[in-house]
Amino acid sequence: MNKIHEKQLNENKIKILDEVKKHYKEYFIYAIKRKWLEIPDEIHHKEIGFGYLKKVDNRNISFDSEKEYLKWVLENAPFHLYKSLSYMEHPDFIGGASQKKILKREMAFDIDVHRVKKCTHEDDGWICKYCLEEAKNQAFILIDEFLISDFGLSKNDLKIVFSGNRGYHIYIKPQDEEIKNTIEHWDRYQRRYFIEYILGKNLNLNYVGSGWSRRILNNIKNKQIKTQLSKTKNWKQIIDKKNENDKNKILSIIENTKNRLELDEKVMEDDIRLLRVIGSLHGYTGFIVKEIKYNSLEYFNPLNHAVFSKFNKEYYNVKINQKIDSLRIKDKTYTTRSKEIPASMLLFLFGHGVDFEILD
Ligand SMILES: [Zn+2]
Repeated sequence: MNKIHEKQLNENKIKILDEVKKHYKEYFIYAIKRKWLEIPDEIHHKEIGFGYLKKVDNRNISFDSEKEYLKWVLENAPFHLYKSLSYMEHPDFIGGASQKKILKREMAFDIDVHRVKKCTHEDDGWICKYCLEEAKNQAFILIDEFLISDFGLSKNDLKIVFSGNRGYHIYIKPQDEEIKNTIEHWDRYQRRYFIEYILGKNLNLNYVGSGWSRRILNNIKNKQIKTQLSKTKNWKQIIDKKNENDKNKILSIIENTKNRLELDEKVMEDDIRLLRVIGSLHGYTGFIVKEIKYNSLEYFNPLNHAVFSKFNKEYYNVKINQKIDSLRIKDKTYTTRSKEIPASMLLFLFGHGVDFEILD
C-alpha cells in the first residue's frame, strides 16, 4: 500500500468518525430538550462512566448537580453512557465498593440474548427480528412468570428498558416506599439469592415450591405425571420411581424450564456495576436505550421504535468494502450492495467496525 492510499484511508476513517460524533451530539441536544435522557436521582451519589470506541473508556466520574451532568453530556456526547446502580458516598473514588462506600443500590435485571436458531445473520454480533423477539419474550417471562406471579409486584412497580442491542433492563421500583427501601438495602448475597431463585439454581426436587411447580407443570403434557407431581412438593420421590424414559423426559423439561432466561448475573450481584443511562444511545447500534411501558411492550419493535427518527432523514453515499449481513431499519433493508444509507445505518456499521467509505 502506498502512502497516498494510506492517507486516503485515514481521511475516510476520520470523516466517518466526525459524522458519527455529529449525530450523537445532535441526538443528545434533542434528547435533553425532550427530557428523554435519564437524570439519575441523587446524582451526587451516582458514578458515571462512558466510552467511545470501547464500552467503558472511563468511569469514576461524578457530578454535584443535574445541571453539571447535562452540560457534560452535551459537551461530550458519548457513544456509551452509564450510571452506577449503587448510590455511593464517594462515587468518584477509584477502586471497589469498600473505597466508594455503598449506601444502597437499585435493583435491575439485564437480559442479554444470544443469536437464536431462526436468526438470519451469520455474524453473531449482528441483530435481526428473531433475536430481538427472543429478547422480548424473555422480558415477558421474567416479568409475568416471576416478578408478578411469584413476588407480587405489579407492572407499575417495574421499569422496562430496551438495552439498545439484544436485550432489556428490567428495574424493580416498588411504589411502596417501604418495600423499595428494603430491597434497595439488600446486600450482594441477598441479591445473589434472588437471581439464583429466578434461574432455578437452588431448585430442590425434594421440595418444589409453588412458583416453580406452576412453571414446570405448565410445560408437562403427560396428564398422569402432571397430576402426580401437582399433589406433592417431593417430586424426587415420584421421579425416582419412573422408568428411565419418563424420568429423562421429566428431568429435561425441568432443565428447559430453568434455562429460558439469559440473565447477566453480575448486573444483579456486583456492588459497583454500571448500567446504560436510559435515553442514551447504544454505541454498537446507534439505537436508543428506551423505556417501554408494559402495555406497549408487545408492539415494540426496536428496528423501528428505537431508531431516532432524525437519523433516517439524512442519507450518505457509501461503498461497503466487506460482506455484511443484511439489516432492516424502519422497513427498509440494507445490504453489502447498498449505495445509499441513512445515518441510522451509518451508526450501526460504524458501531460494528464494518469497513466502508463515505463517497462525496
Ligand atoms: Zn438474529
